Amino acid sequence: MRLIFKAVLLMILGATLAVAKPTIYILATGGTIAGSGSGSLDSSYTSGTVTVDKLIAAVPDINKIATIKGEQISNIGSQDMNNEVWLKLANRINELLNSGKADGIVVTHGTDTMEETAYFLNLVVKSDKPVVLVGAMRNSGSLSADGPLNLFNAVNVAISKDSVGKGVVVVMNDEIHAAREVTKTNTTGVDTFKSPNSGKIGTVFYGNVKYYMNPIRKHTASSAFDLTGVKELPRVDIIYSHANDNPDFVNVAVKNGAKGIVSAGLGNGNPYFSVLEALGEASKAGVVVVRDSRVGSGETTMNGEIDDAKYGFLTCDNLNAQKARVLLMLALTKTSDKAKIQEFFLTH
Ligand code: ASP
Repeated sequence: MRLIFKAVLLMILGATLAVAKPTIYILATGGTIAGSGSGSLDSSYTSGTVTVDKLIAAVPDINKIATIKGEQISNIGSQDMNNEVWLKLANRINELLNSGKADGIVVTHGTDTMEETAYFLNLVVKSDKPVVLVGAMRNSGSLSADGPLNLFNAVNVAISKDSVGKGVVVVMNDEIHAAREVTKTNTTGVDTFKSPNSGKIGTVFYGNVKYYMNPIRKHTASSAFDLTGVKELPRVDIIYSHANDNPDFVNVAVKNGAKGIVSAGLGNGNPYFSVLEALGEASKAGVVVVRDSRVGSGETTMNGEIDDAKYGFLTCDNLNAQKARVLLMLALTKTSDKAKIQEFFLTH
């Protein structure tokens, strides 16, 4: 009798486990995916007007594959993304993943700064569980809105066992990109997200997830960074170079208390001669200067046309300027030792 009871209990437990769905939290921050306009063919619209509940309701199929919970972190166009939202988002993700409440996270986000948020999270989330950023290029009311399928795909990526340990990823237009590599390359096209230095790491076709590559730089659980005790991030500015440039922006950045400057230089990270000297002065005054390039792909090589040792500059490896800014901010929360910071650029 006892044995039969045990067997029945085990069967019930087995059946329950077999149908137990993963729990995915959708953390909404705003963006075009949550945008709306006056008509389906109207190119003017406002980002961050639709709430997380409505985003979820638009894709009922995600409830079949996961237990979905939604939270509104912010509702802004990502052109207004800021440190406060980043810290709130990262702390919430860490709490949800490490308490076991969530098996994976999907963050809905505007596309303008999605790559920066993705890389920030990639460096400060302390978990191997999937974290997926998703957005849309067409607002929720437009003809052929891309948000619903992107969200469906993002949830599928978040529940995939293959996503464990991949770091933070961006899912857009049927592609999976690693946070460190991905960048927005087109102002309006749905195929805007590319990884110029390495290519996408996977695809997701109507929920069918396939990976082809692993990101190898340190991220999430293996990253050197965490937000314990971090209440604010230091100021780091990007200075964009151009022909017939002048050093004014460098001087203003230093005067206004920048702790770091990323120089988006010409070609292989070359600033205009007067900007170069101003950056050298900034570096002498204790501002950490990282040479980067405005080109958009390729490495900015140490001691190329510039004597980095003489000026005390660091280089970004092949991170774009907006991501170099994120890494430099986090590095400065830990140290001002330039050798250590350079090491972070070569390993993260
Ligand atoms: N400006 C919008 C945003 O980044 C664009 C988008 O989401 O596609 O929030």
